[in-house]
Amino acid sequence: MQEPNQQIAKTLKSLRAEQGWSLDRTAKETGVSKAMLGQIERGESSPTIATLWKIAGGFNTSLSSFLEIAPDRAQETVIRSATALRSQPSPDQMLVAPLFPHDDRFGFEMFELTLLPGYERYSEPHEPGVTEHVVVISGVMELLIDGAWITLEKGAAVRFAGDKPHGYRNLHSEPAVIHDVIHYDRDR
Ligand code: MN
Repeated sequence: MQEPNQQIAKTLKSLRAEQGWSLDRTAKETGVSKAMLGQIERGESSPTIATLWKIAGGFNTSLSSFLEIAPDRAQETVIRSATALRSQPSPDQMLVAPLFPHDDRFGFEMFELTLLPGYERYSEPHEPGVTEHVVVISGVMELLIDGAWITLEKGAAVRFAGDKPHGYRNLHSEPAVIHDVIHYDRDR
């Protein structure tokens, strides 16, 4: 089993155990097929980021919990190398570096997302109260917010409700790199 697959398999198994969900129930809650869930749990499949996002949404958990082992104890200072952050669970049109994985104390996770040319994804709404903050680091990308695609150039910053349908795409020939801070409002 590859290491990223192992972390994903472990997380899925423990989330199911916590909830007491069968594979059937998990398929219903996440919109991911039972067969695929089984493969992921056995480490036989490298799920796409889109699939992981669906699973995370079904469990009301963060994407980064699938990509990262949460630290055992609170650590204020975290220093991580550029290469360690950029190992990809699967070949995907969106590369994900979990810069700061979700931590309950802070209520957010922060990603560097690289949208390769031609990438387009409609996101399932995240859990209620989720707010996304997108900053374009390089290239040009489009965000679908409130039913309309808006073009964002390098340096643009946008905040929007992540609990409504939205999308990301790159129609250009160069990769677009963005920072995405996803804030979870769990105390409401
Ligand atoms: Mn999103």
